[in-house]
Order: sequence, then structure tokens, then C-alpha cells
Amino acid sequence: MTKVAAVVTRFEQFAPKFIAEKGDPVGLQLGSLETDVKKMMVTLDVRPEIVAEAINNDVNFIFAHHPAMFHPVKQFDLAVPQNRMYAELIKHQITVYGAHTNLDNANGGMNDWLAAALNLQQIKPLLPSKELPLQQLAVYVPQAAAATVRQALAAAGAGTIGDYQGCSFSAAGTGRFVPGEKTHPTIGQPLEPTATAEEKLEVIIKPQQAAAVIKALRAAHPYEEPVYYLTPIHGLNAKYGMGRVGTLTKKLTVKELAAVCKQVFGLTGVRVVAQDLQQPLKRVAVLGGSGGQFYPAAVKAGADVYLTGDLSYHTAHDILASGMAAIDFGHHVESICKPQLAKLFTTWKQENNWQFPIIQSQIATDPFQFL
Ligand SMILES: [Zn+2]
Repeated sequence: MTKVAAVVTRFEQFAPKFIAEKGDPVGLQLGSLETDVKKMMVTLDVRPEIVAEAINNDVNFIFAHHPAMFHPVKQFDLAVPQNRMYAELIKHQITVYGAHTNLDNANGGMNDWLAAALNLQQIKPLLPSKELPLQQLAVYVPQAAAATVRQALAAAGAGTIGDYQGCSFSAAGTGRFVPGEKTHPTIGQPLEPTATAEEKLEVIIKPQQAAAVIKALRAAHPYEEPVYYLTPIHGLNAKYGMGRVGTLTKKLTVKELAAVCKQVFGLTGVRVVAQDLQQPLKRVAVLGGSGGQFYPAAVKAGADVYLTGDLSYHTAHDILASGMAAIDFGHHVESICKPQLAKLFTTWKQENNWQFPIIQSQIATDPFQFL
């Protein structure tokens, strides 16, 4: 059986918790990381109807984008529907995990999915917020085991640079050591000074990969005491950020782009903020969720239009005055995460030989309707 912890560890290599916004309650929401996963369901929201869907489908692990507990519980009064929902989850031993702004900010995550759905080109983060130095892992390996260790490191994701995988550098040398009395050396004998042909192997990793890569290294390395070290590489950073800005393949008017949004995201309506519906648009900023407060970043990035959700009256006035257009496509467009997360987890399932089924919630959780 595979534990929730193993599934979550793989996910957090893709979207580590430290790229989440401050104060965002990402991670385990309810239940236990030690639960054996029987069936997993990905969902945008955790609502009473979603919990019922999970129970009906024998799901015992819910992976959600929005945290289940936006508001802390002070009284566990079962007259409150939200509390009854928590009680149902506990009663049915369902574990819930939430990947919120770490999924928004991840490269290849929520905002990239939205930008790709709109076919935006030359995409960049709208709010580049986090930069973390990449690390260099150096390890000394006896020559006979060098290929095995190199392959194990690559399989654990080390040495991925852009679209290149399994990047490494090695140099031949001599390793020297004196094994202690109680050792079981792979090469040499206890208390005998030994010299042997070794390779120094160097790979680049992202900080969130360190634990998994070192585990793979220790498993593949033949020595009792493998020697390795990690060094941050200044000037070579992994960049993360919220929102995306890019360009349309051809100019569209505000009215045309609104129609594209409705079609792409399956919406019955969008709210439009524009001085002129015929205004031509080329540069588009997009930020899934409630992005009103970030509109100045879209203006600064030279966007002709800003696509986000939950725009408020006064923010819309400010946007209108700025001259930039905006389309409020709602918050529920983030349900694009369901097929995309299912795709990612299915890939990782194959790579790790996980046996449990993965399903997508079939329920739309948009609280709004247009009449
Ligand atoms: Zn959201």
C-alpha cells in the first residue's frame, strides 16, 4: 500500500510548500499522512457535496486546490453545515490535503494551465515573488558503481536543466580511506589504508528535490559511508511567481476575448470592465482566483487586459480608470486543475508503481449562476 505521505512528497517536489504565499494554510487539512491510499480524488473545492461524492466512490484521500478550512473552527457545533462536513470526513476516515498558492505559483501549475488554455505565448510570471538558488550535489563514487549512481540520481529528478534531463559532470580521481575496526568496507579491509579509483559526480538539483535525491543516492551508493555535499549555486535560481503574462497569437477585441473565455472555460457569462468593447488586445495578464488586488502588476507588465476572478466594485473602477481592460471570468475557472492534477498524478503513479485508482470530482462547485 502507498501512504498519503508518499503521494504528497512527490507532489511537493513539483509544488513545494515554501513557494506558497505567507499565511496560506497549505498541506494536510484533515486526517493522517500515514493513511494507506485506497482511492484518490482530485477536486477544486471541498464542499459537503464533494465529501458525499467521495464517500459514494469509496475515496479515502481527497486532494483539493482550495484549503478545506478557510475559517478556523471555534465551536464544533454540528448544526453548522461546514462542521457536519468535517465530522463526515472524520467518520469515514478520509484524509484531505490542500495545495493552494503553492499550486498557483508552481512552474507548470495553475496559472500556466490557465495561460495555456488561452494559448498565450511567451509566458512569464506576472508577480515574480520567489527565487531560490539551485543546489549542486557532489558525490564520490567508486568507478565500478558510477553509472548506477548516476542513473539513480537522474531517476530521482536530479540534473534537470530546462528541457534537458540527466545532466551531470564527472571527473576521475583517487579516493583514500582507512576503514575502522568494526566496519564492513565495500573495498579494502578494516584497519588497512586503502586507495581506489573513484569518480566525483556533480549534478544540479532544486532545493525541494534534495531529500528525495539524497535518499536515492544513499540507496544506490555501495559504500557504508558515502561522501557527498550540497552547495547553493548563487546566480542560478529556480523562479516562482503568481499569475502569468503573455501575448495572444492574434489581436482580439475585448468582446472577442470575452467570448473566448466563455468557450474555453465553459462559462455562461463573464463580467467585463472596459472603456470600449472594441478595444484591441494583444498582451494578456491572467491570475486564477481572487486577483483584484494585483491589477497594478498587470498594468505595470503592459497588459492590455487582465483576466482574474472575484473583482470588486471599487477595484473595477480603478481598473477602468487605468485604461486597461479586465475580464472577471470567475473563480471557478480554476476547476481546470481537476484534469491537470489527474494527469500529473497518473504520471507519478506509473513512475512509482502506485496501485490505487485516481478519479476527478464530477461536481461543479461554482456557487454563482447567471440568470
Ligand atoms: Zn482559488
